[in-house]
Amino acid sequence: MHPGVLHRRFLNDLSSSLFSFVLPLLPTNEELTVKEEVRGLIEKLIKTIEPSARLLSFGSSCNSFGLRNSDMDLVVLIDDPSAGIEPSHFVAMMGDLLERETNFDVKPLPKARIPILKLTLAPSPALPFGIACDIGIENRLAIENTRLLLTYATIDPARVRTLVLFLKVWAKRRRINSPYRGTLSSYGFTLMVLYFLVHVKQPPVLPNLQRIAPITPLSEEQVMLEGRNVYFFDDVETLRQEWSSINYEPVGELLIDFFRFFSHDFQFNNSVLSLRAGQLTKESKGWVNDIDVGGLNEMARDRNRLCIEDPFEVTYNVARTVTKDGLYTIRGEFMRATRILTQRPDRAVLALAELCR
Ligand code: ATP
Ligand code: MG
Repeated sequence: MHPGVLHRRFLNDLSSSLFSFVLPLLPTNEELTVKEEVRGLIEKLIKTIEPSARLLSFGSSCNSFGLRNSDMDLVVLIDDPSAGIEPSHFVAMMGDLLERETNFDVKPLPKARIPILKLTLAPSPALPFGIACDIGIENRLAIENTRLLLTYATIDPARVRTLVLFLKVWAKRRRINSPYRGTLSSYGFTLMVLYFLVHVKQPPVLPNLQRIAPITPLSEEQVMLEGRNVYFFDDVETLRQEWSSINYEPVGELLIDFFRFFSHDFQFNNSVLSLRAGQLTKESKGWVNDIDVGGLNEMARDRNRLCIEDPFEVTYNVARTVTKDGLYTIRGEFMRATRILTQRPDRAVLALAELCR
């Protein structure tokens, strides 16, 4: 058979294998229901401290990139400005309350840079993996970036969700998804995939939602939140009617191209990935990494090894946790993945299993 035909067949096989790989890893309806009940219960308790408080989910439980048994990300929003609540104080009060009133193991971190409360529930027959949950305070930007990710997923769920979910599983199995150990958060990997689909693929698979003008002019207050421009085009119905990609590559092909791009083409040393603005230079952002060696500067140096601009908090490097060794490992994994997918094109299922070993 002609090599081109064989290759096409492999790509289609890879795409259907990706769908089958991801499907059983999605959260069950039962899990979603239990988590929503837990959120409701905690919200009710928190309202006894501050009646105007609401408890919202963000992150993967509502951006459509959630995997089975993932952690819950929750945030308390306090709607009454006259309540005058100080986050670290509120975290401590919540900690006492939940300790008294629930079975959760409660760990307040009121002194952290962003004060949070960590809750865990040990595994039980009904919840074989238990529950782990972080509650932050007033982190309204997180709600907005969750909505942005969800809107991107909604434009082309079959390809976008499949790619992101697969890469999240891959990153976890290959142990390169530990911000505390020098590698990258799930949020960072998700931004890399979206950047690739918006700015690298030609023709693009996704539009740049932060650059599509609003249908009716918005007022300044509608767009600004905590001093950041959080505008993006979120009218999914209009997008569905008026925007469609002319890139029809199967998801398997996109996956290979993703790995290839980050193995060989992206200039990690001097480039910044910006979902908002495309490729930027570290220099233009002031995120240079070759300042002094030693002492405090040694830490500053490691902060900008990998640079991923947050979509709204544009002075913030989402990948600041990635160390020199961490980046070396991540790049090594991109190369390994490229090798596996391009050198063993007979059985896609086996290639995926090998990839995530
Ligand atoms: P997982 O299923 O692995 O928990 P996730 O989609 O919830 O994945 P996380 O990395 O847990 O991803 O991030 C959850 C949310 O927390 C993100 O949507 C984002 O709002 C915020 N977040 C996480 N990491 C960062 C970061 N480095 N910088 C800024 N915001 C972050
Ligand atoms: Mg999470």
